Amino acid sequence: MKILVSNIGSTSLKYRLFDFSNGESAVLAKGGFERVTDYSTTIEEVLTQLRDGGHIRSADDLAAVGFKTIMAKDVSGCVEATDDVLEAMEFYSSVAPAHNPPYIAGIRQFREIMPGKPMVALFETAFYQHTSVAAQRYAVPQEWYDLGVRRWGFHGASHKYIAERSAELLGREDVAERARSLYVNGGRHPVDGPDLRVVSCHMGGSSSITGIRNGVAIGTSMGMSPQSGLPQNNRVGDLDSHALPFIMRKTGMSADEAQEVLCKQSGLQGVSGVSNDLRDIADAAATGNERAQLALELLTHQSRHWIGAFHLDLNGLDALVFTAGIGENRAPLRADICANLENLGIRLDADKNNNTRAVEAVISTDDSPVKVMIIPTNEELVVAREVKRFLDNR
Ligand code: ADP
Repeated sequence: MKILVSNIGSTSLKYRLFDFSNGESAVLAKGGFERVTDYSTTIEEVLTQLRDGGHIRSADDLAAVGFKTIMAKDVSGCVEATDDVLEAMEFYSSVAPAHNPPYIAGIRQFREIMPGKPMVALFETAFYQHTSVAAQRYAVPQEWYDLGVRRWGFHGASHKYIAERSAELLGREDVAERARSLYVNGGRHPVDGPDLRVVSCHMGGSSSITGIRNGVAIGTSMGMSPQSGLPQNNRVGDLDSHALPFIMRKTGMSADEAQEVLCKQSGLQGVSGVSNDLRDIADAAATGNERAQLALELLTHQSRHWIGAFHLDLNGLDALVFTAGIGENRAPLRADICANLENLGIRLDADKNNNTRAVEAVISTDDSPVKVMIIPTNEELVVAREVKRFLDNR
């Protein structure tokens, strides 16, 4: 069974072709296009690459196309991207402006090019279906909550991968099995049983921190929109709700203009005034740029805030995991986040931390009660597996 997973951005389209023929999953091909202006031409190019590589004879050889979609009204989990589902995504287009519109447009184009082919969406919110209502709720009236003003959580595929892989690496196959089976039936998933407590730090272009008990998410830093939680590359992260009407009244900005600032000129970019890329920010900080230094400190400060919150919720911690572009690569930030936490059982090994990037590794000292780990994430694999499960269960 061959499943194409496509990651669609507003000007990019990446793909990975998975094959499940021999029981295990294998990546047959991967690629990507930047500066995309027309999804339809790009999708044809993807198919041409797959044909030229000898991976498929035609689109008929694909069992389905899978997508890591973000959010939709009253829809989560892994579902076929029907017109109803695309409409439900459209409902939240203004909440996820960098994500929902490209996915809706891209999936429509895939459907035109491959009529009848199952287009299957795994929503990033799915991993948080089992968090407690108290963890999901903002203190807004019921009507607002019903419209979706609540903590949804994102990066679900990544944090789910970390939930599974951390358990495997810690030798806890019982928990790994439970984590892998998580999406099967939906509904509430018990978090009791053999205890394994993990905090997963997905830190990249966008970042979030999730608390995980026994493979199940108990809470996350992301809220209603992907603009929330930690400071993101150019998106604001958490902000007092009263700041927005205040700025609009003081400056005369419209809601759209203010939202544009929050989505494109804020976060690490807005604070540093340098770049939305942490490498540039760190370089600037190293040459004495104070705003760049502040951006690094802000990310560290807020990361520690969320790690602390879940450390408490979980009543301790077995593993603290770093993943994604920053988490996997940026040793100084990991060191800052883990500094002076010996009393919480977190003891980073400086050499291991400095000498490890983008590979699976334990970077805490041998006697550290909490294992600090780097685990490169694999969101596409989670999508492919869930799409396969969706097709198998159909
Ligand atoms: P996205 O969320 O767009 O997928 P990534 O997970 O690729 O993003 O993370 C992008 C971020 O990771 C950027 O801020 C970049 O600076 C940082 N990053 C990537 N590689 C490195 C590296 N080798 N060293 C430090 N930072 C890195």
